[in-house]
Amino acid sequence: MFTQKHIDNFSSHETPFYFYDLELLKNTLQKIKTSAPKNYHIHYALKANAHPTLLEIIRNAGLGADCVSGNEVKRALECNFKNSDIAFAGVGKSDKEINFALDNSIFCFNVESVHELKVINELAKNKSTKANIALRINPNVDAYTHKYITTGLEENKFGINPYEFDQVLDVLKNLENINFTGLHFHIGSQIQDLTPFKNLCLRANEINKWFIQKGYLLPHINLGGGLGIDYQNPDANSIPDFEKYFAIFKQFLELQPSQEIHFELGRSIIAQCGSLISRVLYIKNGINTNFAILDAGMTELIRPALYQAYHKIENISKLELPNSTKYDVVGPICESSDCFGKAVEMPLTERGDIIAIRSAGAYGEVMSNHYNLRDQVKSVFM
Ligand SMILES: *Cc1c(COP(=O)(O)O)cnc(C)c1O
Repeated sequence: MFTQKHIDNFSSHETPFYFYDLELLKNTLQKIKTSAPKNYHIHYALKANAHPTLLEIIRNAGLGADCVSGNEVKRALECNFKNSDIAFAGVGKSDKEINFALDNSIFCFNVESVHELKVINELAKNKSTKANIALRINPNVDAYTHKYITTGLEENKFGINPYEFDQVLDVLKNLENINFTGLHFHIGSQIQDLTPFKNLCLRANEINKWFIQKGYLLPHINLGGGLGIDYQNPDANSIPDFEKYFAIFKQFLELQPSQEIHFELGRSIIAQCGSLISRVLYIKNGINTNFAILDAGMTELIRPALYQAYHKIENISKLELPNSTKYDVVGPICESSDCFGKAVEMPLTERGDIIAIRSAGAYGEVMSNHYNLRDQVKSVFM
């Protein structure tokens, strides 16, 4: 919820910029702490937002890091995450990235294929070291989310399928530079109905039992991330219902007492803390459509163009006025998909009004780019 204090602050900055509400971030982390049982280890997925100011707060709250590139591992280390709290996932880790992670003795590689397992073994052998690995399992659980962010189905490129397990164990027997320490699952993102997480627990139970029967009681079980947020009502639901989320795992996950439980949450931690703040450059009245043309575009926030994602849009210069007019809210980039929202109801809007595009803390700034030689987007913290 924006107050006069925010509006005064925003007025003094050049737009566009990302605004982050650090109070909300701290409250969100506190809520996670009070909702998760003591034996749950929460890693923050850096790919959602890797800004050092935010990472420092997240690390101070006691979270580990979940990385999907060598540079994310590097960023996590620079922001003082302990190497023993850093997991490294991703279907296409390069040799350079693997070597960097080996040199820094990270907690775990989440390995996505038999081929990758062999390569990590070779690279670890060259360094006379051992790599801790978890197998990323494709559990074939549908997350019922956007197809671009569904990852746990057999047709997706991620993870190792159950029909490959026997082969994996055969291969593992001969890999002397691998410590097989865990199982990893991640079924997708922006999951709001919790049923897929229940289904994930049931599959994880079966798969864990299978490995135990084969003689592998693995110390770490990682259930990934994916908890969704309320893009429609960012003020009413500024913090996701972590209690309900963790309760599903408490109820349905049946592990051995010695097994530690890990999560990798990204969006649910950081999305509601960020807004993209922009000014209206021009109003253009068409026959059927009024356009509000902003100084921010898909170069700063690509989610609407990439996955037709919805973000709530507010004219915060006119918060006290009733919504009276519909606008297509668009950016300046030479692409028709550079549109933040169609037929958005706003008060009568003018050049210079400040527009907030809400719930943009996750997969916003990190996906910004320099198309059209646009400036690097700035950030403001409060
Ligand atoms: C993206 C990703 C996450 C975080 O997903 P959110 O939906 O942002 O919580 C966690 N683990 C892996 C392996 C990922 O790729």
